Amino acid sequence: MNYINSPIEKIKFRNTDIYLKRDDLLDKHFSGNKARKFYYYLINDLKNIDKIISFGSAQANSLYSLSVLGKIRNTNIDFYVNHISSYLKENACGNYKAALENGVNIIEDENFDFEKYKVKKNEILIEEGARVKEAEFGIKILAHEISSWAEENKIKNLKIFLPSGTGTTALFLQKHLEFEVLTAACVGGSEYLKKQFSHLESNEKFHPKIIEMPKKYHFGKLYKEFYEVYEELLETTKIEFDLLYDPLGFLSMQKYLNENENSDEILYIHQGGILGNESMKPRYERKFNK
Ligand SMILES: *Cc1c(COP(=O)(O)O)cnc(C)c1O
Repeated sequence: MNYINSPIEKIKFRNTDIYLKRDDLLDKHFSGNKARKFYYYLINDLKNIDKIISFGSAQANSLYSLSVLGKIRNTNIDFYVNHISSYLKENACGNYKAALENGVNIIEDENFDFEKYKVKKNEILIEEGARVKEAEFGIKILAHEISSWAEENKIKNLKIFLPSGTGTTALFLQKHLEFEVLTAACVGGSEYLKKQFSHLESNEKFHPKIIEMPKKYHFGKLYKEFYEVYEELLETTKIEFDLLYDPLGFLSMQKYLNENENSDEILYIHQGGILGNESMKPRYERKFNK
């Protein structure tokens, strides 16, 4: 794969001009957030490694991205999941289906514990959601793409917005950018996210700013306002965003802009994850009768 700088476009969201970093367009198969985080494993010598082990949910974006990585690097992937619903087994779709087609060995094991897993010489173990130091390698490149773009376009004051899961991407971006990085906790709330930041970087100077939301959102649950933002964005920008993270990304950005004087330019990072919508969309349609 030829690694290319992802484009930056201009969109309008509720009358605000926003620059959009299209990491969803990085590559047809290896794109978005997980491509940045797994980039280290894509280009570095995996000395005598013939198997990558990871774990997470059966619909995780990381499952699909790992499957592509495994294909490109000709490496076996063992992906542990605690549970696969019988519905998904019978109606394979999205990340799960694509990963199976790419030859990932998906292992259902409710007792899998990565801390107890004994990594063999020919194996690499990657923590759930790629919450690993190696992720810094690819995210640093993303940070450099943004700073060079800002410099070329003489943008001096810029705020970066992106939604967080483990917070790995937001943290390493802040570490390598002059500009302020703002994020929202899509998984586990702000306290959890702060802990994740500290786990990766003890110096709080490098911690992104967390936008607090008035309501607690649970990861993977369906919220009417999420689907509405998704549809609004699709209609007004013709760009598809992910249904797990981006709705909260945009809602939190909107909240921040409503509550703060801001004269800085704004850059939102589209971190991909569209394949996951294949399973989220029918759930939304069933729930809200669309
Ligand atoms: C994994 C993922 C995130 C969260 O990234 P973190 O580095 O874990 O915060 C956000 N958006 C998409 C589309 C993802 O796949």
